[in-house]
Amino acid sequence: MKVYLDNAATTPLAPEVLDAMMPYLQNHFGNPSSTHQFGRSAKSAIETSRKTIARLLNCSPMEICFTSGGTEADNMAIHGAVNELGVTHIISSPIEHHAVLHTVSHCASAKVRISMVNLDEKGHVDIDHLRSLLASAKEKTLVSLMQANNEVGTLLDLEHVSALCEEFGALFHSDTVQTMGHYPLDLAKTKIHFVVGSAHKFHGPKGVGFLYINRTVHVRPLILGGSQERNMRAGTENIYGIVGMAKALELSFDHIDTHRAHIENIKAYMKSRLQLKIPGVAVNGCEDRSLYTVLNVRLPESDNSSMLLFLLDIDGIACSGGSACSSGSNQGSHVLRALKVDNTVPSIRFSFSRYTTTQEVDYTVSRLKEHLIGKSIPV
Ligand code: PLP
Repeated sequence: MKVYLDNAATTPLAPEVLDAMMPYLQNHFGNPSSTHQFGRSAKSAIETSRKTIARLLNCSPMEICFTSGGTEADNMAIHGAVNELGVTHIISSPIEHHAVLHTVSHCASAKVRISMVNLDEKGHVDIDHLRSLLASAKEKTLVSLMQANNEVGTLLDLEHVSALCEEFGALFHSDTVQTMGHYPLDLAKTKIHFVVGSAHKFHGPKGVGFLYINRTVHVRPLILGGSQERNMRAGTENIYGIVGMAKALELSFDHIDTHRAHIENIKAYMKSRLQLKIPGVAVNGCEDRSLYTVLNVRLPESDNSSMLLFLLDIDGIACSGGSACSSGSNQGSHVLRALKVDNTVPSIRFSFSRYTTTQEVDYTVSRLKEHLIGKSIPV
């Protein structure tokens, strides 16, 4: 049996998305910058996709800039804020994705000061600390905080942080890669300067994403060259990727409640089966205010601890690790370290999608139990 429980890393392409993309791989191959009809039909597909995404997020199509994915969009927002918008102070957190953390540290200089907001052990931002950082800042400030953590799933109250940023005149960027398409987002209501989407996290293709840039701010391109994306990003557009992303986001929003109900049930089911069958299982991150697609658990120590991901992989089960060594990296997870999660026991992230079934969960719990406790008892 093959079981894919690593949907926070990437999701399978939805068949409807592939169908929407195929004509742009086969027939409509024109360069969107060409003025002939081949080019015009490609250009029109891009603009229709932009309108679709803008409609779903309740913003203007002009505020959507297509990128190669979440990483580029995060880079563009942070570099843009520093290079074009006069930001000399960035407030972020130690559990951001490396697309943000490495960009923020790259910006650190004599001119740009970095503050890290305090977190509790579940990964929640200490709002009082954020307020005091904003209140004491004399410089133009960018707050960069993710809406949901990709490893433990802890959620940020976007509205609350947006209101704080407004109160203190700070710019607000949120890495929304893990929430895009999974939670409604009304950009006419939530005051935020930059949000990010990455198609492969919501059953779209890899290598395509977007940055929402609020109309009140203007940033210059990271990638120089031609005048594509209204001079915001040079390079011939990834047309089939953009078409696929718009279709994937549309499908996600059209069925958001049914998908959410299904995935929430799967997550609750997996948590209860793990707790029933494997003594000593504990949840990393927050149990209630958490991304419904992610379940990160600490498991009891066993002789197989350091090999769990490998053993599950042999069983056909894909999930991801976090604690020291289990992820194959020397340093382990910066998120679990920042949250001071016990790294003497293994931690595993299971992440679900609308395609995950309870049978897959049953199989996974049964194999995990065997590796940890040594008995293959049917669950
Ligand atoms: N931000 C978060 C929270 C992510 O989970 C990811 C992907 O894992 C990224 C950014 C990077 O996105 P992309 O893979 O599209 O570059």
